Amino acid sequence: MGKARIGKLRSLSSKYSAFTSILLLWVVATSLWWDIHLHTFDWTKGLVLCGVVLGVAAAISRFTNRLLARPLTLLEAGITSVREGRLEPIRVSRTGDEIEYLGESFNRMITALAASQEEIRQYQELLEERIRQRTQELEKAMHGALAASQAKSEFLANISHELRTPMNGLLGMLDLVLDSPVGGEQREQVEIAQRCAYSLLDLLNDILDLSKIEAGRMILEQVPFNLRSVAEDCARAQGAKAQQKGIELRFEYVGGVTNVTGDPLRLRQIVANLLSNAIKFTEKGWVSVRQTVSARADGKLSMVLDVVDTGAGIPAEKVPLIFEKFTQADSSISRKYGGTGLGLAITKRLVELQGGHIRVESRVGRGSTFTVEIPFEAAPAAEPIVEPRLEQPTAAPAAKQARLLLVEDNAVNQRVVLAMLRKKNYAIEVANNGQEALDKLERATERYNLVLMDVQMPVLDGLETTRAIRRNKSWDYLPIIAMTAHAMIGDRERCLQAGMNAYISKPVQQAGLIAVIEQYLASGTGPVVLPKASGVDRILVDKLMQQDRVLVNGMLRLFIEVAPERLEKLETAAACGDAQTLSDEAKRIGAAAEHIASTSLGQLARSIGEAAAQGNFGAVKADLEALRREIQSLEVLTT
Ligand code: ADP
Repeated sequence: MGKARIGKLRSLSSKYSAFTSILLLWVVATSLWWDIHLHTFDWTKGLVLCGVVLGVAAAISRFTNRLLARPLTLLEAGITSVREGRLEPIRVSRTGDEIEYLGESFNRMITALAASQEEIRQYQELLEERIRQRTQELEKAMHGALAASQAKSEFLANISHELRTPMNGLLGMLDLVLDSPVGGEQREQVEIAQRCAYSLLDLLNDILDLSKIEAGRMILEQVPFNLRSVAEDCARAQGAKAQQKGIELRFEYVGGVTNVTGDPLRLRQIVANLLSNAIKFTEKGWVSVRQTVSARADGKLSMVLDVVDTGAGIPAEKVPLIFEKFTQADSSISRKYGGTGLGLAITKRLVELQGGHIRVESRVGRGSTFTVEIPFEAAPAAEPIVEPRLEQPTAAPAAKQARLLLVEDNAVNQRVVLAMLRKKNYAIEVANNGQEALDKLERATERYNLVLMDVQMPVLDGLETTRAIRRNKSWDYLPIIAMTAHAMIGDRERCLQAGMNAYISKPVQQAGLIAVIEQYLASGTGPVVLPKASGVDRILVDKLMQQDRVLVNGMLRLFIEVAPERLEKLETAAACGDAQTLSDEAKRIGAAAEHIASTSLGQLARSIGEAAAQGNFGAVKADLEALRREIQSLEVLTT
């Protein structure tokens, strides 16, 4: 169509022909001049010719202006407005030539541009609408996910309570059975049941820890502590396990500064997890813990912990998977060793929560090296290194029968606790919830010496009840011990913050429960603090991570209390050649060693059992002598 139109128009060349006519006029003028020169000039002819020339010049100027200058100015104005973002058509001069065509083309371009701009605008609006819808959908999905995650952690917390409550009953009853004179095969069966129940409990605790970390509810403590003793304690705690497998366990510390600010319990948990894996997956050779502390450029301290073993190793393709939850590198090996695949997932998250990272190097059949690097702030020089916070126990009438208030809604748990405390002859009253407890305290004619408080209860829960008790100044003296299935990390802190004095996590063990109660009933006796370095290898078992230090101290006291009776029984049995009693008693001491004492205590108990089984009573007597000395050195620790 464009070409056809061009065809109809007059071309610019026609305008050039107009110029040619001007040239002709010039020729006329020249001829006139020639006339003058030849004296043949006629004025009239000259004037007429000049007039004609002027007229033609004016016509040409007007013609050029109309045809070229004005349309070009309009076009230029149009281009300027496009440049400024205005898409307006220009007024086209009807010159009927290329200029008109140019103007119309320009206008067509403007129309096309405006149309595509409109299209773009519509697309943009559509896109914005879609983005808005998507954002809304995503927000909805995010709220949904958050609510689901919240519901998940709440579900886990509740299920933990629901699971731990019957577990409490189960373990409590098993404990009581084992405390009674059951013997032979039956004892073994009950012991197996107890071990199974404890593994179930470990699994439950792992799931709870992980869910708490994932729900972002893990709160890290910031207290001054000694880096070296945390790692060294852990190594000592696992010494017995390594020894049992015939593996050498080494600990090495490199660096000057050991006092830092941070969360000792979380560090303990990290070291314990790595070390227990190293021992678990190593059949022969050694396991070593190397802790290096050095200064960083930003003024912080960097702690690097290498846990090295000469064990099974991990295939390269499995290495990236082992930090995933519920993942094990080799299901056949794991079947042999047990485990859940949660330990490293928890460890990695704990390391990262503290701003650190973890890596592993491993070769199948050669062993593995797990390296953890965590930054710590150096503890201010003036700040003393504190042990976990303990309330000073209040005085109670030592001679009189102690009055206890047990606040617990679950009938099975009530029975378990009452059965556990039967032999102590306390006067125990039971309240089925917090409100009932407050009423009983209100109405009491004789004051209570101690409250054992469950946390999750109907009507008024343990935390609220404790706060209500603490608001009443006349009950300031009253020690409150939380006895709860809320075993998630951080629950201890919540109980202490509410005003409780100590925390025991269910399932409660008889020895631990009695130890804590006695501790708080004991008039003016502060908690026993175990010296850092002693001749005795302390096993501060992993339970210490979750339970109160007072509990472990209490267990130590309790052990010392019953030790003379146990020693006497052993000595009588050795004198009579009674292998059965010797082996039963040795087992009991071995179990107690797990909780409080040393590798050497555990070893001695085992050695007595073995010698008795072989009928080697001479060896038993020698071991008994060593045992007596070992117990004496423990006594020194508690004084
Ligand atoms: P668990 O030990 O309960 O199975 P973890 O998360 O602690 O779970 O470990 C995951 C897996 O990583 C283990 O099952 C094992 O296959 C592998 N693993 C961890 N530590 C070691 C180690 N020191 N040597 C060999 N394999 C290891």
